[in-house]
Amino acid sequence: MTARDAVYAFFPATGSAVGNDFRRKNFMMQVPGEFPIIKEDNVTHSFCGLACVGWMYQKIKDSFFLILGTHTCAHFLQNALGMMIFAKPRFGIALIEEGDLAKHEPGLEDIVAEIKADHHPSVIFLLSSCTPEVMKVDFKGLAHHLSTPEVPVLFVPASGLVYNFTQAEDSVLHSLVPYCPEAPAGKKNVVFLGSVNDVTADDLRAEAEELGIPVGGFLPESRFDRMPAIGPDTVLAPIQPYLSRVAVKLARERGARVLNSLFPFGPDGTRVFWEDLAKEFGIQVDLRDREKAAWEKIRQQTELLRGKKVFLTADTMMELPLARFLKSAGADVVECSSAYINKKFHSRELEALEGVRVVEQPNFHRQLEDIKRDRPDLIVTSLMTANPFVGHGFIVKWSMEFTLMSIHSWSGVFTLANLFVSPFNRRSKLPAFDETVWLEGVMPSAE
Ligand code: SF4
Repeated sequence: MTARDAVYAFFPATGSAVGNDFRRKNFMMQVPGEFPIIKEDNVTHSFCGLACVGWMYQKIKDSFFLILGTHTCAHFLQNALGMMIFAKPRFGIALIEEGDLAKHEPGLEDIVAEIKADHHPSVIFLLSSCTPEVMKVDFKGLAHHLSTPEVPVLFVPASGLVYNFTQAEDSVLHSLVPYCPEAPAGKKNVVFLGSVNDVTADDLRAEAEELGIPVGGFLPESRFDRMPAIGPDTVLAPIQPYLSRVAVKLARERGARVLNSLFPFGPDGTRVFWEDLAKEFGIQVDLRDREKAAWEKIRQQTELLRGKKVFLTADTMMELPLARFLKSAGADVVECSSAYINKKFHSRELEALEGVRVVEQPNFHRQLEDIKRDRPDLIVTSLMTANPFVGHGFIVKWSMEFTLMSIHSWSGVFTLANLFVSPFNRRSKLPAFDETVWLEGVMPSAE
């Protein structure tokens, strides 16, 4: 298949029959409840959960991430995180070879000994992948067998069979829960839930303290031995929208209260987040002036976004708060789809998205049909689906970038707005779109 064929297979000229068939059989299953969500039960075109290693190993600085996987996983990680190789990464893959298929359990003792000698980690995360999961490797038993009191080995389910891109962070945090001390009743403070870089963490901590909110820490902290104490009077403030499972676990096991608010993205989300969090501690704050000032700071960007049709395909599970920010900024969100939506955890975002078509586990073929018909001005989509859209003249933003940039709270507002605006600016500097040039220039083999 040539590159041109590939692009047209992606956008079949006569795809409507297939699309309509899909529409009749699988589409538009409305989920009953307060917020109308369409559930399509399809696979999402998202990165594998193993990708979370890229930011988690940088966050927990005394950790090592060991993946038991195949050459496919190694190839994926090398491509996805290849640029980090020069940073002496603390992650690696124990490759399963054909001979291992007959073994009862893969032997990882030598590899773990080597990791300890070379990297001196305080904790090793053992990540599963598709093949060993299909082989029914007993990961829990394996991790237990490799653990020592000095260096625990924690099992993290992360295979692409079950988890997508950001969800594996949820699994990592899950494995850390037993290492969070129990906070006694009466010790009321906030623990921010989600991995952010140290600068953003310092910023969130300073903001909370300025508002008079006592800070108990972050899950995860940047060192394994400093995980926060969590107890019945802890207020968990989720700062990433893909951590519903660990939030539920902490509420159930420790009695912690999970803040139900918007996520701190954009001027609107940031104001509501801080006001709601302060309220949990009996503090009334009015941040409307601050929100107004933040909108003013990004006026140039919002003027460009106003009225633009934006389509978000499912990838990072950050889509709900991103679409809400776009809506508040005046954009016309044609569709916001996400791999997984938790009606309770995401309730405030869903409420703010009233009037927007929200789809869980979307059917990508149906999305292609809709995109062809609606011609959105901007598509926010995964790395693997971006190029064919570009090949058809659409302006595209890689959704992955939102997971890697500092876009939280007040300090992240400008970066967040610019991420949406940069593809328009880039396109305006390029010559008029020419499909032939795109195919010839970027994919010479198309000839
Ligand atoms: S875990 Fe599965 S989906 Fe992820 S890279 Fe390995 S084979 Fe691919």
